[in-house]
Amino acid sequence: MMSYRRNTVAAQRFAERRRREADAPRLSEQVPGLSSLQLEIEERFGVGGIKHTRRFVIDRAPALFLVPCGDPRCIDGEHDLTASVMQALRAHETSFHGSDDCRGSIGPAPCARVVQFDATAAYRA
Ligand SMILES: [Zn+2]
Repeated sequence: MMSYRRNTVAAQRFAERRRREADAPRLSEQVPGLSSLQLEIEERFGVGGIKHTRRFVIDRAPALFLVPCGDPRCIDGEHDLTASVMQALRAHETSFHGSDDCRGSIGPAPCARVVQFDATAAYRA
């Protein structure tokens, strides 16, 4: 029952991420004045890529930006964008971008996926 096990591992990771997000400080406390934040996230692999947009509810969002690796074979794959995003938000940057290589592995090989993000933020005067 391969798929059952994979689903269980995925569910555990999801629960773990939820817990870390719940424990993290709130974005609104860390960056007073932030009024909106949107991340365009592109996960790149080989010649392909998947893009999605995340909009944050500033009042409730945790100051934690974790993107799970999208490759289901990847073990411990996760992109932690928190440091680069928080640094830019604290500097009140309205547009910034960055990237993070997956540190997970697929069998004996390192995972080659890369996440790139373009962020748009707004602040109250
Ligand atoms: Zn990965």
